[in-house]
Amino acid sequence: MKQQFASDNYAGICPEAWAGMTQANVGHAPAYGNDQWTHDAADAFRKLFDTNCEVFFAFNGTAANSLALSSLCQSYHSVICSSTAHIETDECGAPEFFSNGSKLLVAQGEDGKITPEAIRHFATFRKDIHFPKPRVVTITQPTETGLLYSIDEIKEISAECREHGLALHMDGARFSNACAALGCTPAEMTWKAGVDVLCFGGTKNGMAVSEAVIFFRRELALDFDYRCKQSGQLASKMRFMSAPWINMLESGAWLRNAKHANDCAKIFSEAAAEIPGVELMFPVQGNAVFLRLSEEFAAALRERDWTFYTFIGGGARFMFAWDSDPARIAELLEDMRACAAVAA
Ligand SMILES: *Cc1c(COP(=O)(O)O)cnc(C)c1O
Repeated sequence: MKQQFASDNYAGICPEAWAGMTQANVGHAPAYGNDQWTHDAADAFRKLFDTNCEVFFAFNGTAANSLALSSLCQSYHSVICSSTAHIETDECGAPEFFSNGSKLLVAQGEDGKITPEAIRHFATFRKDIHFPKPRVVTITQPTETGLLYSIDEIKEISAECREHGLALHMDGARFSNACAALGCTPAEMTWKAGVDVLCFGGTKNGMAVSEAVIFFRRELALDFDYRCKQSGQLASKMRFMSAPWINMLESGAWLRNAKHANDCAKIFSEAAAEIPGVELMFPVQGNAVFLRLSEEFAAALRERDWTFYTFIGGGARFMFAWDSDPARIAELLEDMRACAAVAA
């Protein structure tokens, strides 16, 4: 099919990730992560984050988030999240399932970002035995609607967490896009700002499959390997999930891919905003662009064979990936201009 911008996971595998797979495809190697590649990939993360973190790999973001949260919670605990959080809206109850029932406490924010005030509210409004005890806060960086928490905002959130004895988890399905956009180091975005556990997305960054779960407080990773195994997330040929990371991180592709995707989103959004009948719903800070379109406009665009989702964020979502083609973006814009003429 021709390139679409419905999701960044429509894209294939980038050359650096593919080369990593090929490099690992030599002879035999120990199974279940006891191979040199997996060892080296964990070291590459420790180098990238400039700290001695614990690193695990899961097949997808749903598992990474759910297992990370369940390792931070007992079943009687609760997790404070935003109403737009992927764990709340798009993981089919997996976080509750894997934590044996830890409840999600959903903060209703204007823009899908959690505030220290919302955390304080949930952490203090009930202190009695009848309410599930708040234990974790999770933030998505960038958010599901493409917004960024500044480093200062993350620090304010983590300070609030510390005050109430809460752990801080970051869903970084698009962590690379956030690093590229803010121009800060992975360390500054995470442990230096008080994040305890990060799920670092590889799939949307250009890999075939693989999300890294990174514990900056090593004691929180106790028995995490057993959780991975029990939930069907321990790959027996782990080297093919881990080796691509080595290449992605060491070649800088993780950041290059993200920067390209962010740049495409910027270019597209600036041109799209000029089209009559098209309104930007959120500032474009990462690789996501949300447009408010009339039903006629959206139908006309679909008629021209463009695929996009409208169930996230309440608008038409366009996502850009490592391989987004400027010529194809120009085609989309041209079709949008034609639709504007029809829908007007
Ligand atoms: C894509 C995504 C995930 C992971 O989803 P999977 O389909 O389970 O890999 C997690 N969080 C956010 C914010 C996402 O966009």
